[in-house]
Amino acid sequence: MRRSNEAARLSALRQLNLLDTPPSESFDRITRMAGQIFGLPISAVSLTDEDRQWFKSRLGVDHDSIPRDKAPCAAVAESAVPIVVPDLLADPCYATSVLAGTGARFYAGTPLVTREGHGLGALCVIGTEPRNATAKEMAALTDLAAMVMAQIELQHAFGRVEPVSGLPNRNQFYEDLSDKARDHPGEPVLIVLVDLARAEQISNMTGVLGSTEVDEMIRHAARWLREMSAVQHAAYHVSATQFALIVQSDTSAEGFGIMLMERLNALRAGSGLRFVTTTAIGISPISLGLSSPEDALRMAHSAVIDARETQRGVSIYSHVTDQAHRRRYRLLDDFGAALDKDRDQLRIVVQPRIDLLSDMCVGAEVLLRWRHPELGDVSPAEFIPAVERSALAKRTTEWVLQAGLMQIAEWQAVGLDVPLSINISAANLEEPDFAMRVQLYLLKHNVRSEMLELELTESAIMEHPEHALQQMNALKEAGVKIAIDDFGTGHSSLAYLQRLPADVVKIDQSFVRDITNGEREAQLVRSMISLSHGLGFRVVAEGVETAGVLDALRGMDCDEVQGYLFARPMETARFAPWLKEQRTAGMQGTCMLQAG
Ligand code: C2E
Ligand code: MG
Ligand code: MG
Repeated sequence: MRRSNEAARLSALRQLNLLDTPPSESFDRITRMAGQIFGLPISAVSLTDEDRQWFKSRLGVDHDSIPRDKAPCAAVAESAVPIVVPDLLADPCYATSVLAGTGARFYAGTPLVTREGHGLGALCVIGTEPRNATAKEMAALTDLAAMVMAQIELQHAFGRVEPVSGLPNRNQFYEDLSDKARDHPGEPVLIVLVDLARAEQISNMTGVLGSTEVDEMIRHAARWLREMSAVQHAAYHVSATQFALIVQSDTSAEGFGIMLMERLNALRAGSGLRFVTTTAIGISPISLGLSSPEDALRMAHSAVIDARETQRGVSIYSHVTDQAHRRRYRLLDDFGAALDKDRDQLRIVVQPRIDLLSDMCVGAEVLLRWRHPELGDVSPAEFIPAVERSALAKRTTEWVLQAGLMQIAEWQAVGLDVPLSINISAANLEEPDFAMRVQLYLLKHNVRSEMLELELTESAIMEHPEHALQQMNALKEAGVKIAIDDFGTGHSSLAYLQRLPADVVKIDQSFVRDITNGEREAQLVRSMISLSHGLGFRVVAEGVETAGVLDALRGMDCDEVQGYLFARPMETARFAPWLKEQRTAGMQGTCMLQAG
């Protein structure tokens, strides 16, 4: 009997995280009262661990634990009934016990029992003279034991329930999932994570409506989830706006997700609250015990991110997507660290731009390079999109801008005039003082404004059309040139393009690459060039890799080209020697343009 319950009893005890915690007045108060009622100098709250009785609270006891063997408190915990021993020395069970050895003669203990019926230990009083306990004394001791349990449960619940929703929190989720894994190893379940809103939506909502409204929205959703899930699965409030469900997976993950989303949408439509939020649901199907609870939740979270990115609303965990998220997260984190304190990892390279009339290099584009200490070179095509969506975008531009201006100044000092083109991000257009800061940097590095060109992708411009226009006008006034990068890949309208104070249009390499493939492809680029010329822009073709493409571009009146045919992006130190080589070759009348 004792053995079969023992594992569950011990697990219940350990989950309470009470063992070996410091004494606390809330327990000592009860222990004192027990001693007073019996008129005895010794009393304790004693918990029955695997092989010891450990005292959470003790009065008149020196040790903080005694061996479990032959301890009357252990018998109380195991049987979960009160025990009175009028004279320990006269009792065959306890005559040779450690307790009797300390001079104790009388013992009375009442059990500390959880709701589930596990005996955790005892509240006991001890006397040095043999005596009996009255029914009244024992009734009082039983009441006090109930108070100890109430105190234990209170402490346990504290930190396990989210105050706003009243739902069990993430710790409880972890614990319950571990319990399930112990009881039903290998059983498939769905971990469903409901994310009520994007962080910025909550922040906007708090700003406009106040945090009470946000709390009300969370309570509303929590109430609904609790009602909906009361029977089959528990709901947990795992972070500010996220709820997790553990669902028996006889339902399909997709089916469950879609059903949940439909019901949530119906709820939102019917509620008086004007949600300015978008909900996303991520589901991770797991086998109990095979992934840790932390991992299970993280995987559901990865699915939420995917649901948001793909705008599908509901997404099922996928290992491949998860690996991609993890790498991206790591890259972003490490890039931030590189920018903050390990700038040796970062450097700029430059790729020449060639004017097709003179066949001369007329400038270069600055491209960021990052050598990760463990991953090696990471392509900007991989990390820049993540950086541009993060808070690091502004600082990244700032770093590249300063590095570029320093480079122009360095070349100027040795008599080289090389205008540089620097890529900036959509986020920069939102900085009200961006144009002004660019001017300050120009002054700081003593560089003339016409030596600097800023490249903005068409899609960045279209993200903030009005801001873009203001900033571009301000930059233009300051004499800085503006290029529209990756032209053709965004969705700008002609009417809008015409208003842009840009100087240069850079046709994206995806179009340039194809112009020798067919007349339609060639016609597309030809039209882009003549349209851009018509609007007064100078045209640069990106990604020129072959002589065939170059010839075709010459025939289309393209102004400038950039691409591997001439030079790959190169270390800044290599640029001056490269330029010299090209000029010498040019003066000798040989073809200066060679594959880089
Ligand atoms: P982008 O601004 O359009 O830069 C041109 C990209 O095309 C560069 O890739 C360049 O190495 C590559 N490229 C040049 N010629 C050829 C060619 O002939 N064939 C092929 N296949 N590729 C060619 P990279 O350096 O990997 O940069 C990728 C993108 O990352 C850039 O596209 C730009 O959008 C972004 N990026 C790079 N550096 C920065 C930076 O400092 N700031 C910001 N905001 N973005 C940057
Ligand atoms: Mg560019
Ligand atoms: Mg480009």
